[in-house]
Amino acid sequence: MVERNSCTEVKCSSSCCHDVWFYMIDNPNQYFQNVKIMPEKLNEKPLQVGVYFSVSGGQYKVIIIGDCPNLYKNECNIYSNRPPGCKKTNINSTSCREARERDSIKTCNDHTSHK
Ligand code: SF4
Ligand code: SF4
Repeated sequence: MVERNSCTEVKCSSSCCHDVWFYMIDNPNQYFQNVKIMPEKLNEKPLQVGVYFSVSGGQYKVIIIGDCPNLYKNECNIYSNRPPGCKKTNINSTSCREARERDSIKTCNDHTSHK
């Protein structure tokens, strides 16, 4: 059965799907293509658009710079198999609201109807 995507239903422009950090125990390569190793000093030079990771204590730290490569026409193309961090970002969750506030242009058209 296809999982219902309430974010798409309210026509959100996926504010939570760009410029985000994740922590995960799964290898990020199973979710993202072309994952690169994070430079030791993140601020040393601006990172190009893409997905970067580092590993510490058996945990992966992942950052997406720019739009997530899984985002296509404001829809996640691995939605049913998206990373646990994405699954926690439910509509109207704290992370969702923060993402929409962070990028006030890319907000839901009608997120209030999904409270
Ligand atoms: S994997 Fe999907 S839900 Fe997660 S950030 Fe990327 S597009 Fe968004
Ligand atoms: S969780 Fe929030 S910001 Fe992310 S796609 Fe859904 S409605 Fe948009």
